Amino acid sequence: MLIKPILDRLFGKFYKEYDFIKKSYDALKPFGFTDDNAIASVCLCRDEISQTVRSHIERMWGEAFNFSSLAGLFTAGKTGMKAFISHAPNVNGKERYVFYAFSHIAIDENENMGACKRKGLEKSHACGALCLFLNELSRGKINIRLDEEDIEESLLKRRLLRELKYGEIPDLLTLTKITLKAIVKDLENIIEKVVDAKKADYAVISGIQIHGPEENYIVPDESYVIVDRERKKLEI
Ligand SMILES: [Zn+2]
Repeated sequence: MLIKPILDRLFGKFYKEYDFIKKSYDALKPFGFTDDNAIASVCLCRDEISQTVRSHIERMWGEAFNFSSLAGLFTAGKTGMKAFISHAPNVNGKERYVFYAFSHIAIDENENMGACKRKGLEKSHACGALCLFLNELSRGKINIRLDEEDIEESLLKRRLLRELKYGEIPDLLTLTKITLKAIVKDLENIIEKVVDAKKADYAVISGIQIHGPEENYIVPDESYVIVDRERKKLEI
């Protein structure tokens, strides 16, 4: 399959999912993080084709706390964050949290953005929640009412509109990048309000999950670790 040259040209850097998670684990080791003393969390789309990355995280860190919602938006809020950190191992008075955050997009061998196959489906899309929002944007009529029967999609639309210029209709890949920035921003906002950096070190590891024709990849984005309240860039 000729997906790798496409990913190379589009992103420069990308890894198979397992390699990305392994690299992040190895990058955190020098900062004192291990599967024994740290707890992982993950924020990614509910889509079943996204869940492979959770298996890799589980393999490295043990079961991860699940912050996922449609498109990967962080909607678990302070309560979700408090629950997560209250589950962390406390080793010699120190807690360690690992936050994985991803948006996602399918790319086929002809470079069609959003196009993928699924079991028993020759034509499908990812991220469907983002495609739906883009369709509404292109029609020029967005319903931003908070629909109690469609909470996550309403929240997603409201949140992403805040990131767009008036009248802007990005392509799906650009929207996927914007979504990742929104996920990370919202996650960091709640981390700042809930996490006590005096007693905890933590890492934020982010990227775009790509569904290629045969397997998933991760394009790394910003990743860093906070150790003793000092921020250090993680090279992944
Ligand atoms: Zn999705």
